[in-house]
Amino acid sequence: MPTSTARAKPLLRAVSILIVLLCLGSAFAAVPSDQAAAFDQYAGQLERGEISPDTQAGVLEALQHMKSLLPPDDPRRELRYRYMYCVLGLDTSPEQAIAYADQGIADAQRLGYYEAEVNFHFCRGANQEALTTPRDALADYDAGISLAHQHEDQRLVADGLTWRGSVQSLLGEHALALVDFLEAQKFYESSGAPVESEDNLFNIAVAYRRLGEEAQARAYLDKLLAIGQQRHDRAEQLGAHMELGFLESEAGNQVAAERHLHRALVLAHEVDSRSRGASIHLGLAQVDNLQGRHQEALVELERAKPGFARIGDRSNRDMIMLQTAQAHAGMGKHAEAIDEYNQAEKLLQQSGNLRYLAELLDARARSYQALGHLDLAVADLRRLVSVHEALDRKAHSDNATLMNYQFQTAQREQENRRLAADRALKEQQLESLEHVRHWQRLALVLGGVLIVLLLWLAARQFRRSRKLHRLAMTDPLTGIANRRHIEQLAQRALARAGADGEPLCVLVVDVDHFKAVNDAFGHAVGDQVLVRVAQSCKQALRRFDMIGRMGGEEFLVVLPDTTPEVALQIAERLRRKVESLPLAHLAPGLRITASVGAAMADHDADDLAELIRRADNAMYRAKDAGRNRVEVGGRAQVV
Ligand code: GH3
Ligand code: MG
Ligand code: MG
Repeated sequence: MPTSTARAKPLLRAVSILIVLLCLGSAFAAVPSDQAAAFDQYAGQLERGEISPDTQAGVLEALQHMKSLLPPDDPRRELRYRYMYCVLGLDTSPEQAIAYADQGIADAQRLGYYEAEVNFHFCRGANQEALTTPRDALADYDAGISLAHQHEDQRLVADGLTWRGSVQSLLGEHALALVDFLEAQKFYESSGAPVESEDNLFNIAVAYRRLGEEAQARAYLDKLLAIGQQRHDRAEQLGAHMELGFLESEAGNQVAAERHLHRALVLAHEVDSRSRGASIHLGLAQVDNLQGRHQEALVELERAKPGFARIGDRSNRDMIMLQTAQAHAGMGKHAEAIDEYNQAEKLLQQSGNLRYLAELLDARARSYQALGHLDLAVADLRRLVSVHEALDRKAHSDNATLMNYQFQTAQREQENRRLAADRALKEQQLESLEHVRHWQRLALVLGGVLIVLLLWLAARQFRRSRKLHRLAMTDPLTGIANRRHIEQLAQRALARAGADGEPLCVLVVDVDHFKAVNDAFGHAVGDQVLVRVAQSCKQALRRFDMIGRMGGEEFLVVLPDTTPEVALQIAERLRRKVESLPLAHLAPGLRITASVGAAMADHDADDLAELIRRADNAMYRAKDAGRNRVEVGGRAQVV
């Protein structure tokens, strides 16, 4: 049979192996965990825009640095690097980028890493925009937003709203775009995310421009341009100049538009942004066409094409075709123009941009007219009317969307204010209640203290007065009743006995030759003798009998409900008691005796003084008769 120590051995071995493994583990983990922290810090800075290179090369360099910090065998961090690379750095064809994002989504789902999954959805959406039409990107953004919603990740929701808003904007859903941007802006501003906040202000400006809210758009863009210049942020200045160029062109200020677009072009070269360069050339082509410089427009369009082609962006092909057609039409090449309008129309149908479609139908009708195809011109104009109607309806619904959003926002804010006010009121009520309670408690405590104090004082006073009372009634030497008290007691007993018709006797006890005791043994011994006499007489009496010191060595005894015979027996008992008092311990050979006079109350004739006087007389008679004896005092005769 194994002993308990034998059983414990494998357990001990297992525990020590575990400890060694843990130590080794933490020793090895120490290096990668530092690296992980460095990676997390850098990734966070890049993600929050605290590090934001303004050239594509700079972005790629930053991503490369992030990759170099990646700890080995850390699939989550590796995925973080991949989604950031996907969102910020991927410069391949959209098809390749979408495949990259799809792989990322699958990996993120396997790891249960929702932030990564959401970001891969956004990355996929961005590339879908470039690959087909912006509309196809909506599903990706919606998927990302709803996943972020599920995890109540407000920041990612806001990011998704800005992505989706951009697409809505491109699709001509300017009101929906603005609603998304404004909603995201609320989060960015409340959470203090300055970079995103500014980026999003840009989006809001663009949405206002596309909604035709010229003044709002210009105010936002001027502000952003000022911020960009102040911070020497070329990317921000580039965006603002570009948008101001488009805005001025739409507003009919082609000269101002050109100035902004030229400035933007310089900045696009500086920051090496091909896609933006292409968009600017397209914008310049439009300005040239509007100013009748069709040859120059064609040149700008040729410059735009390779830029878009290089980044695989086909979403602008409709606009390029439309501007090309307008240039040719302006140059009188209507047949060529009509062919290009037709191509542009097909492309526009994919993106569903009604504003451009209206522009196209209007322009193509003119070309048809120029070529003498009046029926075709009329057909385009008829369609133009219905497109305008649709645009009107759109403007109407945009307006409704915006007003609804504003109404809901106002209502929500009002509700929030109401809730905040309610909360403040409740807190205030609670506070004042607490205040009142505080004072109540204090008052209770103080009241309690006061009551205790009063009770204590009252008790002390009661004790004192009782003590005084007792002192007032007690003979200080012997501790029995003093003269005043014994006379009171006697008075009451006499009255009661008179009322009840009961007999009452009193005794006067006087120590014999007490003066000689004092003289022989001293006053102090005399005092002790008096104490002993008083105490022993008190003990020899019955429970209801009373004794008091009348003064000196004379005592009065009151015997209620007592016949003279019994009174005599008691007097005799007292006399013998005194006679036999052992006093040798006070002074060797000390003995004393007492003479007692007794009298019985005559209820018809006696008052207390008379009764005591008769007992006194009897006591003196006892003295005269030789002391140490009892005499009874009658009214006239000796009993
Ligand atoms: P008699 O037998 O006639 O009673 O003689 P007596 O000496 O007892 O009586 P007297 O009245 O002559 O003397 C009483 C003495 O008692 C006088 C006084 O010194 C003494 N005396 C009175 N009060 C006290 C007291 O409180 N303490 C002491 N030690 N002596 C007291
Ligand atoms: Mg005496
Ligand atoms: Mg006396």
